[in-house]
Amino acid sequence: MRKFKLHFATVVFLSILYNYHYSYSQNSDSFIVQSIIKEGTNNSQLQTFAHELLDVIGPRLTGSPQMKQANDWAVAKYNSWGISARNEKWGEWRGWERGTSHIDMVYPRVRTLEGTQSAWSPGTKGKTVTAEVIILPDLKDSIVFKQWLPNAKGKFVLISMNQPTGRPDYNWQEFATKESFDKMKKERAEQTEAWRQRVRKTGYTLRTLPRALDSMGAAGVVASNWSQGFGVNKIFGAYTKKAPTIDIALEDYGLSYRLAEAGDKPRISVRTDSKEMGVVPVFNTIAEIRGTEKPEEYVVLSAHFDSWDGASGATDNGTGTLTMMEAMRILKKIYPNPKRTILVGHWASEEQGLNGSRAFVEDHPEIVKNIQALFNQDNGTGRVSTISGQGFLNAYEYISRWLTKVPDTIKNAITTTFPGVPGGGGSDFASFLAAGAPAFSLSSLSWSYGNYTWHTNRDTYDKIVFDDLRSNAILTAILAYMASEDPAKTSREKSILPIIPRTGERTKWPEQRKAKRKGGLD
Ligand SMILES: [Zn+2]
Repeated sequence: MRKFKLHFATVVFLSILYNYHYSYSQNSDSFIVQSIIKEGTNNSQLQTFAHELLDVIGPRLTGSPQMKQANDWAVAKYNSWGISARNEKWGEWRGWERGTSHIDMVYPRVRTLEGTQSAWSPGTKGKTVTAEVIILPDLKDSIVFKQWLPNAKGKFVLISMNQPTGRPDYNWQEFATKESFDKMKKERAEQTEAWRQRVRKTGYTLRTLPRALDSMGAAGVVASNWSQGFGVNKIFGAYTKKAPTIDIALEDYGLSYRLAEAGDKPRISVRTDSKEMGVVPVFNTIAEIRGTEKPEEYVVLSAHFDSWDGASGATDNGTGTLTMMEAMRILKKIYPNPKRTILVGHWASEEQGLNGSRAFVEDHPEIVKNIQALFNQDNGTGRVSTISGQGFLNAYEYISRWLTKVPDTIKNAITTTFPGVPGGGGSDFASFLAAGAPAFSLSSLSWSYGNYTWHTNRDTYDKIVFDDLRSNAILTAILAYMASEDPAKTSREKSILPIIPRTGERTKWPEQRKAKRKGGLD
């Protein structure tokens, strides 16, 4: 009883303190900020979200049923915290569902190969296709290549260069003699150029060549898009319409290539199951905590929801997604009645050209013109390390001021650049920036993002650094809170952009570009 009384008294005291301090924003800020830090640190839900989204639902390729599942999962999550959320249809896409891929070498020896079908690859219609593997020939010109093309019929054609080494350069740097490292790099550069010429001489590009082979009745197109690290390939989309396109890991691709080159006539068996689902609607997931004083003004948290599907899309952009969701959860709990509306956008089809966010900008001019600030995160799992003013003349004033409330442990690792130059692309903040809205990128430490996780077959749960994510969610929640409470509406005045030395012309503010509303069908 005594204990309860004490507890009750504490609550009353705290709430009086809170109300009292509310008019003295300094201390009230401190109270809210401390509560945000506490909630984000002691009650983090990031691992649970990561498991549900990345392990259970998996990758979120545009137009796939998993993308829609993720949309529905996010809406349910928000609703469970009392945050209103909706899936907003903005376009249509080719519907495709990845199935299993089985790739085995059956001659001259048996080995299961590490590889997978590319996104949107045709399936093998329930059959296993066994055929010889041949190498794209080095021919004089497109006329000779056209004469050769019928030879592709019934064959799996290797269209990527055979990499001379499966070791990343940092590994050579550490162990090779300088002479041997230099020699390898020189030879590799020559080989890369020669392969480029080999493709060019066919008269096709890497985009049109698979189609030419496909229409000639090739059994399949085999590529290896090595990502310059141990065990990593980037897995993108197929261009074939009938035969499967598969990507094989460097090691097994090299094996197949060397056997074919030596005249051993290797044969592989391929079965890819995938499902065409016609034309399907695509959605952005939007959730918001309505503002109490200025509901028509918006603080926007932003991260694209879609991914490539060679793995789980954990760091591109599972981590950005989870950070924004966690920030929203914390905000709803600690700061449920914001001054301005706090809206989160989980955009679709960023990977095909920022389509979901561009569509939102087109569809909601009333929101875009009233954005107080937008914070986007989309470059992996790391702690936020840079924030640029994106060319806004006065961004230094409000961003620096908001950052003063962020704990030193987080803030001191962040380099700010003001006024900065507006980003023309790269991620969804650019869609808003082009429309003149103060949109910023919370740019993070790489953790070898470019080679090891970005669009690769290794972008999985285990690559997430949860301590960094917790820090990012806290940072985002504090920035959102500060932007929401700011007495003034943020300035959108643009700085005079620098002259480009090469052209002598002034850098132009990026132009708004139209969303592709129907895709994947040609
Ligand atoms: Zn991304």
